[in-house]
Amino acid sequence: MAKFVLIGSGLAGGLLAAYLGRRGYDVDLYERRTDPREGNIVGGRSINLAISTRGIHALEQIGIADEALQHAIPMRGRMIHDKSDALHFTPYDVDPKNCINSIGRAALNTTVIEAAQRYSNVRVYFNHKCTDVDLEAPTAHLETEYGKVTGHGDAVIGVDGAFSAVRKSMQQNIANFQYEESYLAHGYKELTIPPGPGGSWRMEKNALHIWPRKSFMMIALPNPDGSFTCTLFWEFEGPRSFATTKTDADVCRFFDEEFPDAFPLMPTLLEDFRENPTGSLVTIRCAPWFYRDKVCLLGDAVHAVVPFYGQGMNAAFEDCLVLDECLEEFPDNRERAFSEYFSRRKENTDALADLAIGNFIEMRDKTASKTFRAKKKLDHLLEAVLRGIYLPLYTMVTFTRIPYAEAARRARIQDWVVYTSLAAISAILILLTFWFVAR
Ligand SMILES: Cc1cc2nc3c(=O)[nH]c(=O)nc-3n(C[C@H](O)[C@H](O)[C@H](O)COP(=O)(O)OP(=O)(O)OC[C@H]3O[C@@H](n4cnc5c(N)ncnc54)[C@H](O)[C@@H]3O)c2cc1C
Repeated sequence: MAKFVLIGSGLAGGLLAAYLGRRGYDVDLYERRTDPREGNIVGGRSINLAISTRGIHALEQIGIADEALQHAIPMRGRMIHDKSDALHFTPYDVDPKNCINSIGRAALNTTVIEAAQRYSNVRVYFNHKCTDVDLEAPTAHLETEYGKVTGHGDAVIGVDGAFSAVRKSMQQNIANFQYEESYLAHGYKELTIPPGPGGSWRMEKNALHIWPRKSFMMIALPNPDGSFTCTLFWEFEGPRSFATTKTDADVCRFFDEEFPDAFPLMPTLLEDFRENPTGSLVTIRCAPWFYRDKVCLLGDAVHAVVPFYGQGMNAAFEDCLVLDECLEEFPDNRERAFSEYFSRRKENTDALADLAIGNFIEMRDKTASKTFRAKKKLDHLLEAVLRGIYLPLYTMVTFTRIPYAEAARRARIQDWVVYTSLAAISAILILLTFWFVAR
């Protein structure tokens, strides 16, 4: 059996190692950080995430969905907080069983790594940082506290996130390697609403909370200990921005004005604001995702997306499933398997990147409006009446496994049909009204 060297045991790296281990491959998985069971998750970097149908399906296929979801908190809809403290709840779907789940990054990371370690042919090495990859050999060069080591195998797979060292080696050594990265003008900062008395939740537990404020927003996801992790998405620069909010008084004034109901629930706001990093929001597209039968990339390393559809990890998990299917289809031709995997995923992750940016505008701006709430009601009505025919875009992306590109295309056609029909019906009603009045 072939041997794979995997770089990065983040969310997708652990899961991919489990899939490859189950298929009987030898796997050496190298991670630059310490073991997540020793608490390696960097504070202030997406402590919890929303997992939905695609991610859950990928966990189910390897038999760890129940284990992973045991502490997850279902979120049934968006709870919009307006500036006057009023709350509006909009369910995610007409079917109340369709919810997204808030899950802790560290716990999920541990679950996937432990799933991989159940296969005796998978070995995990922490504190090993990949510096570069020799694509031809293929060999990964790694730094450890004891010096330099090399990871040899039949293929190296880079699952090492948005700033991937494996991808960098491909960029440097493959002629015409296409690479594009773009940053939003907004950054993000994680903040906390601690638990209430006895570990209770101080806001609705089963909702994703949003404070939409047109050009910026804050969101909050529940944690099992009663706390919420809040994320403020705000411009880096500008008259009112991270850059101009320097003193404690500036921070308090801003939160009091913009998030008046959350502000009193955030006793550690000043400390969190000062100490947690301000992260950037990058979209990465590249091609190809593989080099012959020797090197391949997966997850954020090839398609980091902004987090507004809650799909980055879900898509990375879906990659693991598709790569596993391709290796099953072409067991004797790894290059063909890599190439099929790339062609099945590329169009879809490109579509997701566009959808994720589009959803930022929807979340921060449109969710506050009555029109948005009316549109969601109409979506749910059409979904209920035209069962199996009409599916809102959010439903297709979040609660089905319809490929992202197909979901985007189908939503465009549906919107055209619905709005043209509504315009036609309105025109007929106006004409009929004139006809009755004129009679
Ligand atoms: C604020 C925020 C919120 C998000 N919310 C959601 C959400 O709700 N739902 C969702 O589906 N997605 C969400 N995402 C996206 C999600 O975090 C990523 O898509 C997901 O983590 C990608 O998994 P990955 O394994 O490809 O990369 P990562 O999780 O980044 O893992 C990469 C791993 O590689 C290791 N590594 C890096 N370089 C090296 C090296 N040189 N040598 C060895 N190891 C290395 C890293 O230490 C890390 O462990 C969010 C992202 C952000 C920033």
